Amino acid sequence: MNAVPDQVLGQLRYAQVQWLPGPLQRQMRENHDLLISLDEDAMLRPFRVRAGRAAPGLDMGGWYDADAFAPGATFGQWISALSRFHAITGDLPTRDKVHRLTYAYAATIELDGRFYRNNRFPAYIYDKLARGLLDAWRLARADKAAAVLGRTTQAAQPWLPERAVPRNEHSEPGEDFTRHAWDESYTLPETQFHAWHMTGDETYRSLALRFLYDDFFAALAAGDNVLPGKHAYSHVNALGSAAQAYLSLHTEMHLDAARQGFAMIEAQSYATGGWGPDEHFIEPGVGALGASLEDCKRSFETPCGAYAHIKLCRYLLRITRDARYGDSMERVIYNTALGALPLQADGRAFYYSDYSRNACKNFHWDRWPCCSGTLPLLAADYALDLCFTDPKGLFVNLYAPAQVTWQQDGIACRLMMTTDYPYDGMVSLALRIPTAMRFTLRLRIPAWTPAAQVFINGRRDPMICLPGTFAALDRQWHEGDRVDLELSLPLRSLCIDAQHPNTVALVAGPLVLMRMLDAEGEPEATLTSGELLSARRPFGAARAWRVQTSGTTLSFRPFMDIQEERYRAYQDVVNAGK
Ligand SMILES: [Zn+2]
Repeated sequence: MNAVPDQVLGQLRYAQVQWLPGPLQRQMRENHDLLISLDEDAMLRPFRVRAGRAAPGLDMGGWYDADAFAPGATFGQWISALSRFHAITGDLPTRDKVHRLTYAYAATIELDGRFYRNNRFPAYIYDKLARGLLDAWRLARADKAAAVLGRTTQAAQPWLPERAVPRNEHSEPGEDFTRHAWDESYTLPETQFHAWHMTGDETYRSLALRFLYDDFFAALAAGDNVLPGKHAYSHVNALGSAAQAYLSLHTEMHLDAARQGFAMIEAQSYATGGWGPDEHFIEPGVGALGASLEDCKRSFETPCGAYAHIKLCRYLLRITRDARYGDSMERVIYNTALGALPLQADGRAFYYSDYSRNACKNFHWDRWPCCSGTLPLLAADYALDLCFTDPKGLFVNLYAPAQVTWQQDGIACRLMMTTDYPYDGMVSLALRIPTAMRFTLRLRIPAWTPAAQVFINGRRDPMICLPGTFAALDRQWHEGDRVDLELSLPLRSLCIDAQHPNTVALVAGPLVLMRMLDAEGEPEATLTSGELLSARRPFGAARAWRVQTSGTTLSFRPFMDIQEERYRAYQDVVNAGK
């Protein structure tokens, strides 16, 4: 097995991050509590029914049932998320639930792959099961999960497509899509490379190679924008497999594909960081994003899209050390992921963010869709993005209330972070170290900030904090040292695309501020860009901004602070740019 290239940043383990009260902890707890509450017999029913076994309990409904759209598809993701929640919290009932589900699932495996017969999504469902079993094995110490993965793979193999299959929504005449018309194999190589690294079994390596989507990757690597018209979420997910292929095989083409693909996606993103109106990539340069505001309410497939996007940012940040991948991740976390309505026990799940002119939050029309499996994973994995490591020290990437432990030169170190970011630009870091020691503490300075200052033990440090980089504090540190980062959070307006220069989002630091609409309809207002940029927070209203126009007062809030109210993400202004 190939070693990871030297310059790649290390990733923290889940157990190294403890969240303190804040939006990231809130979303993690909501999802952890919800998964703990799900009935195990109901979760296992599609596997038991398809194996012809006794299947007590009730059907869960929606996409999940034995003969439904994607039987048991989210089961593997829930095993993953529960394993990750156990790793973060140490909660033993969570670990026990992972063990019971893993072994009860194992009892349903028929080596002839009966589960995958007449199944629209063999690759998609197998991939999620494989990831879940790897997490159960590694994070929840279900010792037999690696063997269960071996049997799962044996059962699935005859039913998997021949090679990477693009998600075909419209089959062409003469093409036979009867078996795999909807299947999605995009993350399969990523999971299989992990399985190979963790078990050493070459079966997984060869599956990874077989499902690499190299036609797509080679085009992107050559700078050819082949995204328009493609299913958005699944192709961003595929880039995670490209990044993992680079780490596993050291193939520059795969890294180029991930980087170029990422840049093409950023170029067609909303101010929130979301992309893919109606789940598809758009033609660049023709104003399609602006046009989407008119009639599209399915603006961004949020939990799945955010999960894929953040994971891709994580790979690229680790590989390149480029802070703008941290900026991009942050934008998606605060403006999309954290604004998802909480998953409900009856399977109602947030799916699309709505950026239309008269927008509101909704659950998907089907219960237990894909996003009901991805939201818990998204919430668990913020822990991986808080900080990264290299031999010289710690990279602080997200600013959130938390405690981080890490090993520096073999010594256990601790960092306490307190902040109300992104509502406030002050971030306080306190070091707890057993002895004086030298290392480098790096802080992400977002590209959008015009000014950042660092204070060490209350005294201003002369270091220049260049926006869009990690500022490096290399010094001898002592127990109790305190670092304060002061980021200015400027208000700006970002136009949706070049063809719609007067359609702008109001942004404060990393937060898009959405205009609240009256229940009866929108308040009529002619808004100048000057008025928009005069937005202020009234004293005592930390999470709401006000804009005074000549006729009325408009209220703005971040997406994560909107519940059932109507809102508008983009505003039409006169004299934009003045
Ligand atoms: Zn989804």
